[in-house]
Amino acid sequence: MVNIEYNKSITEYTTFGVPVSSNYFFAFSSVQELKSVLANNLVKDEKKLILGGGSNMLFTKNFDGIVLKNEINGIEIISENNAEVILKVGAGENWHDFVIYCVEKGWGGIENLSLIPGSVGASPMQNIGAYGVEIKDVFVELEAFNLETKKIEIFDNTTCKFGYRESIFKNSHKDKYIITSVTYKLSKNPVFNTSYGAIENQLNEMGISELSVKAISDAVIAIRSSKLPDPKEIGNAGSFFKNPIITKEKFEKLQAKFSNIANYPQADGTVKIAAGWLIDQLGWKGKTYDGYGVHKNQALVLVNYSKSNGKDIYDLSTNILNSVKEKYNIELEREVNIY
Ligand code: FAD
Ligand code: NAP
Repeated sequence: MVNIEYNKSITEYTTFGVPVSSNYFFAFSSVQELKSVLANNLVKDEKKLILGGGSNMLFTKNFDGIVLKNEINGIEIISENNAEVILKVGAGENWHDFVIYCVEKGWGGIENLSLIPGSVGASPMQNIGAYGVEIKDVFVELEAFNLETKKIEIFDNTTCKFGYRESIFKNSHKDKYIITSVTYKLSKNPVFNTSYGAIENQLNEMGISELSVKAISDAVIAIRSSKLPDPKEIGNAGSFFKNPIITKEKFEKLQAKFSNIANYPQADGTVKIAAGWLIDQLGWKGKTYDGYGVHKNQALVLVNYSKSNGKDIYDLSTNILNSVKEKYNIELEREVNIY
């Protein structure tokens, strides 16, 4: 029997924790269960929203449709040799638990992505990234259920169209496919990436001289725990905005006016600007309104201290976007998925 819930609060299923509900809710743990609910007359024509860990979404209103929570679990070793291991992982697995599973085995590639909240199934959605590593670096393929044809399709690195915090699933295929499993290739002889951000300092502080995937994962966990608001304590969805990538010409004009603008030249000649720096310069960091605001240490992170309305948080993000556009002539993009 298909156990569909009605008029369900989904507040606790999202890390922002705004008060919100959906007409229908169903948690599935297999493709078979998914097919059964989609064939159900009550909901088959309803709008569908796929929910993982709810750590990259903001609801500005109740959801008029069915929320489908992905709980497909399982980690399967597809192949293994002396150099690498290929793993197929259920989309409902917790991302950080999967990272720790690999770290404990000494398999390298995703240690820099420790402590990112959410599910395995959402990892390709925005090609999750941190400390110089992106999911595309270890990605082999994924299986996704096409909501229209009701068939499973396979996407590889090329067909996923990965970009900076982007993929086809965040664009043309949004809400049209349900990712059911992701296959990754990890290394048994990893090349460590410690050059980014505060990793090296943290390793020194921890007195670590011999690198290992475990040491890097521990360092990343320590940095993130000290800097980022824990969604269990303060509602948030991580970085609300993406770092803008602009042309060299535009960057040079900006730098002439704002000499200390935080920037990172990219291999293709474009320049990444730290959105947090722009927002901080405009005095937004730490601004608090009625129960929500901008985090005191992280200008990129919008926070919900109480059960604030998602629309108010969204409007704050619009005010930030407008002020950045006015002063720097840069159009920031929201990274968080708005519903
Ligand atoms: P959800 O929020 O549930 O969903 C996000 C989007 O993906 C929605 O549009 C949803 O419909 C869709 N979706 C989810 N699952 C599926 C599926 N199986 N099939 C199809 N569509 C699906 N992100 C980074 O990239 N790097 C970071 O370092 C990082 N740090 C963060 C730190 C904090 C404190 C927080 C709160 C968030 C952070 N994030 C970061 C953002 C977020 O954790 C990631 O984007 C994560 O991958 C979202 O996973 P989720 O399962 O919670 O997705
Ligand atoms: P940070 O290390 O203080 O760096 C600030 C910004 O500068 C980051 O946005 C980062 O870009 C960029 N940067 C730093 N060193 C760089 C380098 N060597 N080359 C290119 N770009 C560089 O950032 P943080 O806020 O503490 O976050 C640390 C990492 O976790 C970052 O990679 C960040 O993306 C990730 N993170 C992501 C989220 C999210 O929700 N998406 C939330 C928290 C943290 P990038 O962001 O492009 O890496």
